[in-house]
Formats: sequence, structure tokens, C-alpha cells
Amino acid sequence: MKVPLLDLKAQYKGIKEETLKAIEEVLESQRFIGGDNVSGLEEAVAAYSGTRCAVGVSSGTDALIAALMGVGVYRSPLDEGRADEVIVPAYTFFATAGSVWRVGARPVFADIEADTYNIKADDIEGRITPHTKAVIPVHLYGQCADMEAVCQIASRHGLKVIEDAAQAIGASQNGVKVGNFGDCACLSFFPSKNLGGLGDGGMVITNDEALARRVREIRNHGMEPKYYHKHVGGNFRLDALQAAGLLVKLPHLDRWAQMRRANAAAYDEAFCGIDEIKIPKIRPENYSIYNQYIIEVPNRDAVLDALRAADIGCEIYYPLPLHLQECFSALGYKEGDFPNSEYAAKHTLALPIYPELPLEQLRYVAKSVSDAVAGK
Ligand SMILES: *Cc1c(COP(=O)(O)O)cnc(C)c1O
Repeated sequence: MKVPLLDLKAQYKGIKEETLKAIEEVLESQRFIGGDNVSGLEEAVAAYSGTRCAVGVSSGTDALIAALMGVGVYRSPLDEGRADEVIVPAYTFFATAGSVWRVGARPVFADIEADTYNIKADDIEGRITPHTKAVIPVHLYGQCADMEAVCQIASRHGLKVIEDAAQAIGASQNGVKVGNFGDCACLSFFPSKNLGGLGDGGMVITNDEALARRVREIRNHGMEPKYYHKHVGGNFRLDALQAAGLLVKLPHLDRWAQMRRANAAAYDEAFCGIDEIKIPKIRPENYSIYNQYIIEVPNRDAVLDALRAADIGCEIYYPLPLHLQECFSALGYKEGDFPNSEYAAKHTLALPIYPELPLEQLRYVAKSVSDAVAGK
């Protein structure tokens, strides 16, 4: 049996006609930048997330860059002295730290919690210096980081909080959705995220109207009014075709999240009682949207090989923590600095969890994992 890690064709089948119609309307209008689809999507995502504002941008990465610039983390060629510092988890997708670097700030890593893989709040405070300007907690795999603890530390030290919610649109903690904890949150519409576009796209959501206005200017070269540049921004615009496609998908998002959660529950049940398999730990206050279903096993690489041999799509998110990446070697971190991040990189594995995954395929995956763990 062949089981893909993600099958977007299954989802497309259910929304094909609507999507084609939405795309055709954009083509007929020949309005590809801005317009009703973009503003409509911004309103719809803000309403969905319960935030006052939303600004569509070209990717999740650009959302992080625009958000950092928007909260004032940006080094110009005229700035002297030490760079600003931004605290990020050592274990996340590269963009979280890459964006910090690209605005001329220094990523300062913190370790993750061994059970949720999210930033360990206790590891933040000791890394704060007079140069620290912000912290970026990541809601990894669809589960919120400990936002009460992170926000308390941030407010004690006057730090901005940018939520990296690229994997977590619609996730919540104590009933509060992402985007309502920090100064803003960054969403990604990369096709493999829970709300995936027809290409790249992203959004900054926030309750801070002044910040939203700045991000709106920054995404269009810091221009306001036309050809008058208040700040140096970039071309971080979301295009109309993406917005049109996403508007078709948004009404289905909660249902898809529920299907992912049902799949997660089925895996949890299948693995329950197998001591070698550590299933995802979701804290009781969290509602996870399961962008990924991550297990931890002692013999990860052997399990990975066995699953691939059985035609099962699986992936390692992520094989090398960020403090050990070549591009950050000049920051001076070394192996052993972040034990939980390093452990996760060596022992975790993502299994297929997409909404339309047939139950018999899920059972085949679960059985293959159990066998591989037992060395069968
Ligand atoms: C996907 C992702 C991003 C970047 O989003 P893109 O749209 O691919 O640029 C940033 N952070 C995390 C945690 C992600 O998973």
C-alpha cells in the first residue's frame, strides 16, 4: 500500500469547481495585485482568528521579516554599535531564525521543552541582554507555545512578542486563538500548511492597528502615499490569485482541522501501550490543529528506513537544530548547547496526518511503525 505524507489532490477534488471559478474571475478582472480578493481574505482571516487586523504578504517568511521591521527590529546601514538580539527556539523551521538574521539582528537560541517541542519559557530569561528586542515563540506542529509564560517574561523585560504561527492557524490556548497573545502573529499559506495556497503566501495578524498600518506600508516598499517612502520596506505583497484560492479554502479549515485531530486520535489509540513510541503531548489548555503528527522512537533512522521501504511517506522535521546550521556557525554555538533540541532532531518522525487520509492507510502506517519499533 502506498501512503503519501500529504495528498493535496484529495483536498482539491472537493473544491475544484469553486477554485477554478475564483481563478477565472481574477483572470477576467486582470487585477493581480491587491484588490477585493486580498482585502476580502484579510477580513476573513482576521474574523476567523478574532484579531482586529490582518495584512496579506508574500510568504510566511516575509510575514516574519515584515513583522520584525514593523515592531522596530531592523538595522540600517547607518546604525552603529551592536546588533539587536531576538530570542528564538533552536528547534523550528529555518525561517524563524533566518528572518531575524535578514533584518540585521542576531538570533539568540533557547532550548525547547522535551515533550511539546515548543520554546522552553524557563530558558528565555537567562538569555536576555540589554540588546534583546523581541522573542519569537513558534507554535510548532500546530500546538501553541506556553504563551502565558512567554508573554509574562516579555512584558517584564519590555520585549516584543512575534508569534510564529506558520503551522498553527486556528490553534488556541485556553480558548484564545493564535494572533491574540503577542504583538502579532505570522501565518504561512505554503501549500503544506493547514491553509495552503496555490503557491506561496502569508499574513501578519494583530490587534495593534498602528503595527498593522506599518506592516501594510512595509509590504509595499514603505510607500505612503504613492512614491513617497516613509521607511525602507520591500515587495512583500500577496497576489490576488493566491487570495482567491485561499478564500475558497478558508470555510473548510475547521472541518479539515477536525479530520486531522481524528486521525491523531486514531494514531494515539494505535500506539497506546507501546512504551517505545512517544506520542505527541498536547497540553490540556491547548487545541492543536495537528499540522504534523510527530512521534519519538529510540531507533528513529531504522524506523524511517522501514517506513520508506513500505512505501509510507514520512519526514524528519527537523534533522539539524538551528544552532548547528553552517550559516550560523559564526554565532559560536556548539553541540550540547541545547540538549532537548538535539534529542528531538535525532528521535522524532512525522507520519501522514492530512485530513483525507483513509483509515485503512492510517492503520497500515500504525502497524508498520509498531513493527519497525519492535525490530520486526
Ligand atoms: C513554513 C514555516 C515558515 C515559513 O513560511 P513560508 O510561507 O514557507 O515562507 C516559518 N516558520 C515556520 C515554523 C514554518 O513552519
